[in-house]
Amino acid sequence: MTQVVIVGAGPTGAALALLLVKRGIATTLVEAAKDSYRVFRGEALMPSGLDAIAQMGLSTMLEGVPHRQIDAWEFIVGDRQLFRVDEPMGSNQPCTLVSQPPFLEALIAEAQLHPEFEFISGVPVKDLLYNNDRIAGVKLGDGREIPAALVIGTDGRNSVVRQRAELELVKQQKSIDVLWFKLAAHPRFVADNVFYSILNGGSGFSVFHGAESGKLHLAWVLSADDKTDWKHTDWAETFASRSPLWMAEHFRNCADSIESPMRLSVVVGRCPRWYRPGIILLGDAAHPMSPVRAQGINMAFRDVIVAANHLVPLLKTESNSEDIDLALSQIQAEREAEIIRAQQLQAQEAWKGEQLRNNGFVRLLMMQTAPFLGEKIKQFWVKGQYELRQGVTEVKLVV
Ligand SMILES: Cc1cc2nc3c(=O)[nH]c(=O)nc-3n(C[C@H](O)[C@H](O)[C@H](O)COP(=O)(O)OP(=O)(O)OC[C@H]3O[C@@H](n4cnc5c(N)ncnc54)[C@H](O)[C@@H]3O)c2cc1C
Repeated sequence: MTQVVIVGAGPTGAALALLLVKRGIATTLVEAAKDSYRVFRGEALMPSGLDAIAQMGLSTMLEGVPHRQIDAWEFIVGDRQLFRVDEPMGSNQPCTLVSQPPFLEALIAEAQLHPEFEFISGVPVKDLLYNNDRIAGVKLGDGREIPAALVIGTDGRNSVVRQRAELELVKQQKSIDVLWFKLAAHPRFVADNVFYSILNGGSGFSVFHGAESGKLHLAWVLSADDKTDWKHTDWAETFASRSPLWMAEHFRNCADSIESPMRLSVVVGRCPRWYRPGIILLGDAAHPMSPVRAQGINMAFRDVIVAANHLVPLLKTESNSEDIDLALSQIQAEREAEIIRAQQLQAQEAWKGEQLRNNGFVRLLMMQTAPFLGEKIKQFWVKGQYELRQGVTEVKLVV
């Protein structure tokens, strides 16, 4: 019998499955999608996430998939540059974009080298199995049942496992959706990959060169009350009218390369309780993260390390279910402080963006004072980024 069944092969599930099977623990990983490319996946990894990858012994794997560092962050308000900050901003490595689908596939391919690993893809988990009051496995969409000593729900922000286990999610008030565009890259981004955040005339968007060669990514913020008819908007012109001249010219020139956007619903929240006897939620299933300042994948990998530290010694010795259930509460206790802080910081960053988008007076003030106060605002912003880049608590893999 498999010891652990992990539901969802995103960053949390795939990395945890690999850590467990490498330590000899029989693990089944179930993924609803047929392949990793079918699901939208963010790309930015902060130094804390890169450090987690290094600790898991996966830096060489990362080198082998498309990746690209961010060279600088630049904020533009109206037609003025507010400030630019160069990476690595005092960290030992720069924020790096990593193409998630090939990285996830590499994690799974490496796990497949271990006889303890089973991977089931293209079939969703639909329900949970019970043994008296304890969760004792999962039921798949095709009717198959997989009994296990422990179920780990890593099935993301709309987690089915969370719903079936009746673990409550307390959501933060919804404020944004994101339209995600891909388009041809401008050579300037290839030479100097600046992550631009542009606020102009009540609109806000970010643009940067993604991990894959030749592709710009553009994330356009839609407020909760936004009435934009986004399916029938002339996007090239909309971006151009809010951008610096060289970028505007690029948007107009490459209008044909702008792919239809994906509308991504941003769910942010936290489960007051991540576990029940026989089950724990990790990653977005337990604490869906906002895309603001790229925290989710980093938090996911850090959850994985803490979970492995607690679970591996117990699962290796086939401990009783009471000991395993006790470890589940310890995992939440160890991870919660960092998650709460990261979500607070993300909310503060989002609030600042919202004020600038919605308040023409504040924007005007920023634009007029930028030549004198830009440097001060930059220093203030950089100081506020420390925890978002480095993490809040110490996370060390010890198993
Ligand atoms: C627009 C946007 C941009 C983002 N950009 C970034 C970024 O640049 N950097 C960053 O760090 N974070 C980013 N995030 C957050 C980040 O995507 C998440 O925090 C992160 O993906 C969480 O990883 P996960 O493995 O927990 O969940 P997910 O990545 O959501 O993976 C869950 C997996 O479970 C599978 N699944 C779902 N239901 C089932 C089921 N019933 N049975 C089996 N499998 C199932 C899904 O197919 C999926 O593969 C972004 C989020 C959004 C919304």
